Amino acid sequence: MSVATVGEQGKRFLVIGAGFSGSLLSAILARHGKQVTLIDHAKHPRFVIGESSTPAAGLILRTLVKRYGLSELGPLTRYGRWVNELASVRRGAKQGFSYFFHQADTDFQVAESHPNELLVAASSALELADTQWLRSDVDQFLCDYARQQGVILRDLTTLKSLQRDGVSGEWATTVVDSAGGQERLQFDWVVDASGQGEAVTRLLGLPSGDLHGLKTNTVAVFSHFDGVKSWDALLAEERQDTKDFPFPADTSAQHHVLEEGWLWCLRFDHSVTSAGLVLDAHSLADGWQQIPAEKMWRTHIASYPSLNRMFQDAQLSVMPNRFLKTQRLQRIAGQAAGQGWVSLPHTAGFIDPLHSTGIAHSMSGVERLADIFLSVDSGHQVGVDAYGEQVLGELKLIDLLVAGCYLALPSKRHFEAYCMLYFAAATTYEKNRMDSDDCNLGHAMFLADDAKWVTAVRDVFYHLQELAMSQNWGEPAQFEAIIRRKIKRYNHAGLCDAAVSSMYQYTAAM
Ligand SMILES: Cc1cc2nc3c(=O)[nH]c(=O)nc-3n(C[C@H](O)[C@H](O)[C@H](O)COP(=O)(O)OP(=O)(O)OC[C@H]3O[C@@H](n4cnc5c(N)ncnc54)[C@H](O)[C@@H]3O)c2cc1C
Repeated sequence: MSVATVGEQGKRFLVIGAGFSGSLLSAILARHGKQVTLIDHAKHPRFVIGESSTPAAGLILRTLVKRYGLSELGPLTRYGRWVNELASVRRGAKQGFSYFFHQADTDFQVAESHPNELLVAASSALELADTQWLRSDVDQFLCDYARQQGVILRDLTTLKSLQRDGVSGEWATTVVDSAGGQERLQFDWVVDASGQGEAVTRLLGLPSGDLHGLKTNTVAVFSHFDGVKSWDALLAEERQDTKDFPFPADTSAQHHVLEEGWLWCLRFDHSVTSAGLVLDAHSLADGWQQIPAEKMWRTHIASYPSLNRMFQDAQLSVMPNRFLKTQRLQRIAGQAAGQGWVSLPHTAGFIDPLHSTGIAHSMSGVERLADIFLSVDSGHQVGVDAYGEQVLGELKLIDLLVAGCYLALPSKRHFEAYCMLYFAAATTYEKNRMDSDDCNLGHAMFLADDAKWVTAVRDVFYHLQELAMSQNWGEPAQFEAIIRRKIKRYNHAGLCDAAVSSMYQYTAAM
């Protein structure tokens, strides 16, 4: 039996899951004197989805770099630095969010007042842009970095059991490596960063959260492709007028909004494109679970002629070299923390890729947990319990921010106006960080701790739900006026402005 001993520097941590968040938190804890064992049942490099970063994620990472002396990670905070200083870790540029609204069996058309587009810039220049992360590279880089900080990595290792001694508070776990060797290990804290694996919930047999309470109900079909035609080039060939676009659509998180959901297109610098359909489950025929992923992909793409042209020469990339299909994407844990354990946000739950909330949310979890565990105050449990409640509240707010967009799919102006709730929350969060000298530890993501804001979002959601159910969308200007009123206190970035005709030049609150 091998037992990690309590060192001078304090507690022993087991972190389950060597994705980017588990690796980054492990690295910070180890660099600051904790004994950390990082266990993953897989091995890097491996295919992972969840690639589009946001300004909030970049801001948090910049704070972590400064606060914990992680200068080696500085290049990951901006596209320009990343390309120049860390070229071996592959990525793409993301200057903002773009949305193109398609109708089935109809060619996509740019028109003068932009009734079919929404572009929201998030950075003022390419060098300062956010990034699309090639997760196989980024996660491996961060995992290697964690090892360099002294983290003990056990990959290809499975946890067989997990028990906590009620008296000493010590955890004991039995792990099995790829050769079948078993070991029993002991720890003081367990951090669950296993994402969908939900390792602690499963090992302790905890109940999951109220899935029925979540409004979003979507599934995804996705892969990585070579040879996806440039959307900018396709529009140019068709002599469509894109001079108002604040940035090239290919250097953005490209959303192609469809009648039954949307398609993401994220382009990496090495000519690979991540693309995925996210489909509203209400729009799927019974038995969709039995339809092979590739067939589902091809059927939906075929309905949209412009997308068909974009993908006509596309082939699956070597990794993962297949189409992947999910079940319902949404999940939420019953609890995100308990005695001696805590989950990172992506383990506590997940809502949907729309609005790219995942990386920033995970990054904020790393920030909050690093602060709790490295504080001199020994009341970690109190901090962890409060954090756990906060994360579940954030997931429920993200659910509302996302679900309204699916309700609004039939009306571009309602969809666009509803998106402004997300942009208001994100830019206010960014501004609050900047105003408090980049230290936002007391505040929840997306303003989930602002009761007035949460009520405002909920009110708008239920109003939109009534419109959607009645199928009488009414005058979009009325809905836009409601949104404008609701975001007034949070609108630091000129959002919901009819005068810009859906072309937002630069919304970042910094
Ligand atoms: C379809 C889809 C699209 C998304 N798109 C975006 C996006 O564009 N932008 C964005 O910001 N977010 C997106 N997300 C969310 C994003 O994927 C997550 O926020 C991100 O992956 C969280 O990283 P993580 O390191 O916390 O967890 P993960 O990346 O899930 O890593 C978990 C790790 O735990 C390991 N593991 C799992 N179970 C066990 C176990 N039992 N024992 C040991 N190890 C285990 C896994 O091997 C893995 O290494 C998307 C998610 C989905 C599902």
